Amino acid sequence: MDLTRFPRRRYTHHPTPIERLEHFSAALGGPQIWIKRDDQLGLTPGGNKTRKLEFLVADALAQGADTLITCGAPQSNHCRLTLSAAIKEGLKCRMVIEERVEGSYDVDASGNNFLFRLMGVEDVVVVPGGSNLGAAMQKVAADLARAGRKGYVIPGGGSNALGGLGYVACAQELQQQLFEHDLQLDRVIVGSGSSGTHGGMVAGFLGNHIDIALTGVGVSRDPQEQAPLVRREAQAVCDLLELGVTVPEEKVHCIGGYWQPKYSVPNDAMIEAVRLMARTEGILLDPVYTGKIVAGLIGMVRNGAVRADETVLFLHTGGMPSLFAYEDVLR
Ligand SMILES: *Cc1c(COP(=O)(O)O)cnc(C)c1O
Repeated sequence: MDLTRFPRRRYTHHPTPIERLEHFSAALGGPQIWIKRDDQLGLTPGGNKTRKLEFLVADALAQGADTLITCGAPQSNHCRLTLSAAIKEGLKCRMVIEERVEGSYDVDASGNNFLFRLMGVEDVVVVPGGSNLGAAMQKVAADLARAGRKGYVIPGGGSNALGGLGYVACAQELQQQLFEHDLQLDRVIVGSGSSGTHGGMVAGFLGNHIDIALTGVGVSRDPQEQAPLVRREAQAVCDLLELGVTVPEEKVHCIGGYWQPKYSVPNDAMIEAVRLMARTEGILLDPVYTGKIVAGLIGMVRNGAVRADETVLFLHTGGMPSLFAYEDVLR
C-alpha cells in the first residue's frame, strides 16, 4: 500500500525495534512474547501519538496553521506529544484538559503536566468531565482567529482518519520486520482507547493482507462500546485509503475488564504488570495505558486465551512520564 500521497512530517528516523521478552515470558510460564518498542518513537519522549502526529501536523502546516489545539486528560500523553511536535515545527500549542476524574487536575502535578509547563504550553483551559471538547477547542480556535492567528484542531488522541494512517504505517513496518526476523506471530496485542492505534492497525492489516489475530485491550471501555468505535475508525482509515472494503466485524477484537474502576484509576492487575515488566525486563510501563494493557495480556495467558505454545507481540505505546505522577501507588 502506498502512503506517499499523504503529506507527512518525520519525527522518528528508524523503525522501532522489536525484541524478545525472554524473562517476562518465562515468568508467565509460557508463550513467546515479543515487544515492539513504540515507546522509542521520536518527540519528547515518544509514544503512539508520535506516529499519528506525523500526518496530522503535516496537514496543519499545509493549511498554514500557526497553533496546534488539542485536548486530553490531565496526564495526557497525546497533549504532551502534540506540544512537542508544535515546538519542533515552530508552532504554538494550546490544550483543553478534561477533568475526567473530578478534582484530578492540579496545576503543579508531576508527570505529563510538569512537561506541559516545562515545554511552555501557551495556554491550558480546564473543563469538567463530559464537556463537549470539540466545542471547547473550536472556541480556542475562534479566539485565535480574532487575534489574526490560525489554529488547527487535532481531535482527542489524534484519532481521525488522517491520524490513523500512522498505524497503517506501523503495520507495514511490522510486516517488514517479521519478514526480516523470519518470525511468525499468532497474535498482536495493542491498547484501545480513542481507537486510532487499534483502528489504524486493523486497516493496515486489511490493506496489507496481514493475517495475524489482533486484540485491543480497552483502557476506558468494555468491548460492546469499544468495538464499534474501533470499527468506525478502521473504516474511516480504509475509506481515506480508498481500499474499497467494508471492515468485517470479526476483524475487530476487543477485550475488557482491565481498565476498571475507571479510566486512569489504578487497579491491582496494573500494579502487578508494571512491576513484573520493570523487574524482568527493565522496561517501564505506565499506569494509565500500558500497565493495564499488559495486565490484559497476562490475563489472556492465565485464562488460556493465549496458549503456552503461541508467539505474541505486545505493542508498547509509550506513556512513561505519567509513571511519576503515580509513584505513591507503585512504590
Ligand atoms: C493514547 C494512548 C494509548 C491508546 O491509544 P489510542 O490510539 O488512543 O487508542 C495507549 N497507550 C498510550 C501510552 C497512550 O498514550
